[in-house]
Amino acid sequence: MRFLLIEDDMALADCVRDILEGNEHRVDYCGTGEEGIELAEMGGHNLIILDIGLPGIPGTEVIKKLRNLNKTVPILVLSGRTQLESKLEALNCGADDFMIKPFHRDELLARIYALVRRSEGLIRQKLQIGNMEIDLKHQEVIGPDGPLDLTRKEYEIFELLCLRNGHPVTKTIFLDRLYGGMNEPDAKILDVFICNLRKKLAQANNGEHCIKTVWGRGYALRLPETPATEQFAAGE
Ligand code: CA
Repeated sequence: MRFLLIEDDMALADCVRDILEGNEHRVDYCGTGEEGIELAEMGGHNLIILDIGLPGIPGTEVIKKLRNLNKTVPILVLSGRTQLESKLEALNCGADDFMIKPFHRDELLARIYALVRRSEGLIRQKLQIGNMEIDLKHQEVIGPDGPLDLTRKEYEIFELLCLRNGHPVTKTIFLDRLYGGMNEPDAKILDVFICNLRKKLAQANNGEHCIKTVWGRGYALRLPETPATEQFAAGE
């Protein structure tokens, strides 16, 4: 997953980044609200972790601006302010959760995962696709013969497809998620990733392909119980 961290306390920011990157997540970081809004506007984040006491515009203004821009990305506030008023103000502005510093790393991760799951419309940590299970917490795909040997990028591609639940995912979204706008390779690399991923998934899924090409729109998960013609009837 990919997170945006807006925090001016460098030591704390490093601590949060270590926790998230240690769990194989990507973190975009900035130290001011102005930069945070710019980065958030670009999108592609599963969640924003936001400090309230920032130089320049405060965290509460960041929340208001993002919500006014119709950004629905979940926002977790990390604040040293212990008063109930601060918590209520942040939540009333549109924050989804509020944690007081100092925090325990396990609680931080648990809250982040809960918020992301809720925002993705998921209440489970595991998804079942055909006879494969996607473990979102441990980031692995388990087939009938055990965990599949997927590369990090292959897993991220498959997870994104599963979370989109049959809706097409464009190459731009894939690249944004996989590379975060940094040193992005040519989009053709995705065809290679998808080709390898398809082979590995088919081996674990009785030879059946579960990723389909949606011409002009990217790729989508083929939902096992739904005829292909019905999958995109609702569109987006
Ligand atoms: Ca601060």
